[in-house]
Amino acid sequence: LIRFERLNKWFGDSFHVLRDIDLTVARGERIVVCGPSGSGKSTLIRCINALEPFQEGRLLVDGIELGVEGREDDRAVTRVRQRVGMVFQQFNLFPHLTVLQNLTLAPMHVARLPRARAEAQALQQLERVHIAEQAHKFPLQLSGGQQQRVAIARALCLAPQILLFDEPTSALDPEMIHEVLDVMGELARQGITMVCVTHEMGFARSVADRVVFMDQGQIVEQGPPDRFFDQPRTRRAQAFLERIL
Ligand code: ATP
Ligand code: MG
Repeated sequence: LIRFERLNKWFGDSFHVLRDIDLTVARGERIVVCGPSGSGKSTLIRCINALEPFQEGRLLVDGIELGVEGREDDRAVTRVRQRVGMVFQQFNLFPHLTVLQNLTLAPMHVARLPRARAEAQALQQLERVHIAEQAHKFPLQLSGGQQQRVAIARALCLAPQILLFDEPTSALDPEMIHEVLDVMGELARQGITMVCVTHEMGFARSVADRVVFMDQGQIVEQGPPDRFFDQPRTRRAQAFLERIL
């Protein structure tokens, strides 16, 4: 479903942020990406929905080729973004809109759904994240964990084939982390393809099919979570795990 082939990206002329990335994600697969701060995790997943251009190599999402910088195809970008939803560390909800209005905005104005259908679908997705009773509140009336679940429901409203998460729990108080991870685990069991940047190793162990470890712009190691955590093969992964576990 997602294929990186020797992808390279620079910021400016000199900062080589992604180096020879080869990565294939199958439909329904759940990937956790981890690695030290600054290793390129966010940049990697932002490439998948064309939020970041790259300069060398190939990237295909559901068979759609995202061209290198300067040769991007706007139609390909639009088609890819229809297939990919993203959830960020900061929830990025509109504070002046209710939960329901946050969820219907893109379906009504981008996908051109009539209001009644957009609202029905939004309520369905809110139920999926166990928060339908908050539909008429404003984001700031909700806890951080609830706001992040709204952000997940908002991504689901566009019926993505792939969900990207960039440290979705790292802005949350500890007691709210599990409610967001639980919802992510439920979605994973429903078969949606997920690529999650997270340092929640319990989540990685129980949900991920594969852990991808990055350091200094490279994929240094990847494998099933149990093997990665219990028998990391590279010094860099060992050092990283010692620091976070
Ligand atoms: P973290 O765990 O802190 O979120 P990360 O692995 O997600 O880190 P990235 O955000 O992908 O790392 O950043 C990789 C490197 O690229 C960092 O050194 C960062 O400072 C740099 N970088 C990120 N965005 C830009 C940008 N727009 N322009 C220049 N450099 C950038
Ligand atoms: Mg990051």
